Amino acid sequence: MTPFTTKTLEEALTAKLMLNFGRAPEEATDQEMMKASALVLRDVMAMRGVETNKRTRREHRKQVHYLSLEFLMGRSLMKNAYNLEVLPQLKEALEHMGFKAADIFEIEPDAGLGNGGLGRLAACYLDSMTTLDIPATGYSICYELGIFKQKIVEGQQVELPDDWKGLGSAWLLPRTEEAEEVYFGGTLREFWNDGHLHIVNENATKVLAVPCDMVVAGYGTDHVNTLRLWDARSTKPVDMSLFSRGEYLKAAEEEAMAETIAKVLYPEDNHYEGKSLRLKQQYFFVSATVQSIARKHLETYGTLKNFHEKNVIQINDTHPALVVPELMRIFIDEAGMNWDEAWEITTRSVAYTNHTVLAEALERWPQNLVESLLPRIWQIIVEISRRWQEKVENFYHDPGKTRAMAIVWSGEVRMANLCIAGGMAVNGVSGLHSDILKKDVFRDACGMEPWKFQNVTNGIDHRRWLSEINPGLDSLIRDLTGGDDYLTHPLALKKLDDYAGDKAVLARLAEIKRQNKESFAAYAKKTRGVLLNPDAIFDVQVKRLHEYKRQLLNVLHIIALYQRLQDDPNAVTQPHTFLFGAKAAPGYAVAKRIIRLINSLADEIDHNPICKDKLQVVFLENYRVSLAERLMPASEVSQQISTAGKEASGTGNMKFMMNGALTIGTLDGANVEMHGVLGDENMFLFGLHADEVTQLKREGYVPQRLYSRDDTLRRCLDALRGGFRDGVAYDDLYQRLLFGAGGSPADEYLLLADFQAYCQAEERMAATYTDVEQWNRMSLRNIARSGIFAADRAVAEYADNIWHVPHK
Ligand SMILES: *Cc1c(COP(=O)(O)O)cnc(C)c1O
Repeated sequence: MTPFTTKTLEEALTAKLMLNFGRAPEEATDQEMMKASALVLRDVMAMRGVETNKRTRREHRKQVHYLSLEFLMGRSLMKNAYNLEVLPQLKEALEHMGFKAADIFEIEPDAGLGNGGLGRLAACYLDSMTTLDIPATGYSICYELGIFKQKIVEGQQVELPDDWKGLGSAWLLPRTEEAEEVYFGGTLREFWNDGHLHIVNENATKVLAVPCDMVVAGYGTDHVNTLRLWDARSTKPVDMSLFSRGEYLKAAEEEAMAETIAKVLYPEDNHYEGKSLRLKQQYFFVSATVQSIARKHLETYGTLKNFHEKNVIQINDTHPALVVPELMRIFIDEAGMNWDEAWEITTRSVAYTNHTVLAEALERWPQNLVESLLPRIWQIIVEISRRWQEKVENFYHDPGKTRAMAIVWSGEVRMANLCIAGGMAVNGVSGLHSDILKKDVFRDACGMEPWKFQNVTNGIDHRRWLSEINPGLDSLIRDLTGGDDYLTHPLALKKLDDYAGDKAVLARLAEIKRQNKESFAAYAKKTRGVLLNPDAIFDVQVKRLHEYKRQLLNVLHIIALYQRLQDDPNAVTQPHTFLFGAKAAPGYAVAKRIIRLINSLADEIDHNPICKDKLQVVFLENYRVSLAERLMPASEVSQQISTAGKEASGTGNMKFMMNGALTIGTLDGANVEMHGVLGDENMFLFGLHADEVTQLKREGYVPQRLYSRDDTLRRCLDALRGGFRDGVAYDDLYQRLLFGAGGSPADEYLLLADFQAYCQAEERMAATYTDVEQWNRMSLRNIARSGIFAADRAVAEYADNIWHVPHK
């Protein structure tokens, strides 16, 4: 299976350097070497891809198409080398050729084609689908600029463009011969021919979608899959002769559209942006993808009538919801099917994963935008909506339910309802989240079609998030479980539980964590000039900045701790370092204020001698996959403190758990399932439950009462209001918590309601930390029981219960 020895790999790298860059190894730069390494591995994977595709076609295997406007891939060199089982050989070859392997890996830019959890999930699933030998293709947009790079300047976030394709494009294979044309605008002309009504779109603005394929290897298999990233080009070069024919403006329009569509990833996480460019991106992506799938299907089967038997389209949130009308368009307008037949095939092909219950994240496109930009798609949506409404009326005879379930309603197209109507399955991403969908958000739809609603709890690629990034822990696991079986059978981690009473094992686990903390401290010093004390608790909250994730609650507790320390310098004996990492959407003003607050507080604490070797706050700039990979192995406390009912699943929580950090968390998202396997005794649970949150809001929540009643809280909020030594005041945040602002209610996310419980959980945690053996035992149990959070498990559930495809 191993495609290279160190020697043959060295030869391949040397040849690649000469052929592509005209360089001998001793003249090559690190950049050239990184590219050469990528190209050599890409060649192996591309060859395996030919075999995989042949087999899929020959055996008429059903294919999975995973559509996501985000794929947060991160780096690929180490990952692909790992999966191809040539990582040791690659490192050795690089060193032997006079390079530092670590530098070559470090120089690769992250492919940051996503915002956070949703995009990273797609990347983890692509790895698992491949490892499980499922014929699968991921589809997204080849954004020229990924998620912005974050700099912190004077405490504030500054966004810089993430121009990743210079080196990152080494993984991409452009396939101009498989380009598709996507139509926007224009007018519809209808005519009868052969007893059929034909509809053609005239004077449309056409954009060419060119696939740039990224091949991905699985682990322990020759099977490879493809991530197909669509790039936008204009259909023709602007031709001056068009000018005389009055078509110059059209051509210029096409060129302008082609230049903007794949330009940049929208940086809003868990938030709907009703911009027309975003809708253009969505349709560009969906239309190119569906055409490409249909074309390949036709090549193999000569008909689209068995489309649903050989294809399943999984859509990651509603962003690709237009697959439903686009499939209908192709079945009806291009394949000549009637409505009922087209609908039957469509609704047996599409499945929808919901990722959020936040109202502000639910996509609702203005009808007139859809109508003018996508006239034919609009017609089809109207008809889908009409028939769906009829069905709902006949089932419920209840205008309230008709309104709740409508697809087109009061001038808007509701994408979630379109997905529910047009799909065969709807799944939430954790037990709690799926229950909320069934009982609350989609209650009426579930009442009518209960069989559609399912749960698939998220999972993470444990090979990347444990084995690859935490070699110390990997080798302990191999020693204790008797080999590397856990790499393909993650539940084998359970065997670690047998060593909970083994002091030598616990000591070794502690030593691994210690080493990882020191490595991270060295990295932070080298790259940021930050001095981290490896004796301190590494207490970490890294994730997108969002009010519902409650970074501000973490801050309030730190302020309380800081005040306690000022009253009594001996109040803290165990050094405690709080690490934050978070990007805020550029237009999300409150989130940016919270980033600034964290930096103000960090600066305050840094300058107070009382805090030395006791308390530290660090904001790590530009949180991204490659930073997470360094941080997870070094983390000891994982902050998962969202308002119960708001976090669909979380996957950061799983990364921490797998690397032995203990969780302080609410009963939200997948924390509920973590608690299910860990029990109260192996995590620090606190706060209101989801139903209590609903109840409290119904009764009328008045945070001012807590403010007047609780001295610690009041003092803490007053300090926040006045600000710290940098002179920046945070009255705005104070006002939001106590009185509400800009239409949002006072303390919308119940920070004050959970404050005391949170402080107590932090105290329990700090007390446990001093009992070193107990801490290490809990850490071991967390690792032992993290196997259920492997993406392999989640993907197997999709394959069994939704896709109905066989897998390894
Ligand atoms: C895993 C991951 C996330 C998701 O974190 P949550 O805590 O689940 O929100 C976000 N960003 C990056 C870079 C990640 O690797």
